[in-house]
Amino acid sequence: AHIWSQVPLAPPDAIFKITAGYKADTSDKKVNLGVGAYRDDDGKPWVLPVIKKATQILCNDPALDHEYLPITGLPEFTAAAARLILGADSEAIKGKRVVSVQTISGTGANHLGALFLSRFYAFNGEKRVYLSDPTWANHHAIFKTVGITPVNYKYYDPRTVGLDCDGFLGTLESAPERSVVLLHACAHNPTGVDPTTEEWNKIADVFLKKGHYAFFDCAYQGFASGDLDRDASAVRYFVQRGVPLLVCQSFAKNAGLYGERVGALHLVAEDTEAAERIRSQMSVLQRSEISNPPAHGARLMALIMNTPELMDEWKRDIKTMAHRIIDMREELYKLLTNDFKTPGTWNHITKQIGMFSFTGLNSSQSQTLTDKYHIYLTNNGRISMAGLNTKNVRYVAEGIDKVVR
Ligand code: PLP
Repeated sequence: AHIWSQVPLAPPDAIFKITAGYKADTSDKKVNLGVGAYRDDDGKPWVLPVIKKATQILCNDPALDHEYLPITGLPEFTAAAARLILGADSEAIKGKRVVSVQTISGTGANHLGALFLSRFYAFNGEKRVYLSDPTWANHHAIFKTVGITPVNYKYYDPRTVGLDCDGFLGTLESAPERSVVLLHACAHNPTGVDPTTEEWNKIADVFLKKGHYAFFDCAYQGFASGDLDRDASAVRYFVQRGVPLLVCQSFAKNAGLYGERVGALHLVAEDTEAAERIRSQMSVLQRSEISNPPAHGARLMALIMNTPELMDEWKRDIKTMAHRIIDMREELYKLLTNDFKTPGTWNHITKQIGMFSFTGLNSSQSQTLTDKYHIYLTNNGRISMAGLNTKNVRYVAEGIDKVVR
């Protein structure tokens, strides 16, 4: 037999499969609501004007070279990235107890965080991580890869198409002390359902009471509300309360730098001395995996975040994206409720936040949308708001209306 004959064929990635189906579809009505990337009102990828400007500045710099970055990344980038998520006035940053490492976007941050915990966290028994049910599918794969077993916590309530807060708190209460729990910092993927400020307070109470470790994943800072600070509020609140934590940060969505792989991992330690030991071990792990992170995207973001005028421009670009999405939520809601008088309640569409929405459509309704109306989405009824625009939103609302009747 051939040496690889025992390698089983893996199933294709679900999202990739949707995109392939969309591409092969010849209908001029087709709509792709599967993709997790921002699209403008013409359904096209959007290069942020601030990124174009920063690219020009970088490329005209005669001192630009292609040397290796330090193992833990470009210091001007990681320092600015830490201020962006933890706040410029963060006590943890002032106290020099934040370990920041540049990573291969948010996925790399999740991986490095998970790998570090698998090596050094004092797990209470079996190595486990609590993940929201449902969550970004890659979370399961990332933790399994480093030998940490995913366990679900209750999160989404299909009856209300909202948060099952009591179920969530109940799982946190009954989990063993010092459990590692992954939290979406904002714009929960795939549901679009975030806890309210009050609910975050209750969640933090249980974390402190049980000594749980918060593994924050922040892939959509600014992209959710249009405001970088507001979308960081849960993370900052947990730091303030003294919950032990780390944060995975991605610049894919909020800067439109998907393919450049710009991200960071920030671990808030109890003191400077612990931070130094942790940094040294992160550095060892990073060296064995990627040696040094990629330079281009980090240079762009360092330039933007450290130049006040560019920073202001970035904030405006973020508002453009977030508000187009918020407008589409309102438009879809209005069409379903007022124009089509679609059976059921649809206020979850405007209550949910960020790139994605759980519509409440079941898998057969989702499949019918694709088969009959050329509207592509995952079969859990999740739609990407970024795929909607002023030209197709009425057609999508009409399709939803037809499949639920
Ligand atoms: N975490 C969540 C919840 C996400 O939705 C994503 C992207 O879809 C990521 C992390 C990581 O994305 P990237 O590796 O492109 O930064």
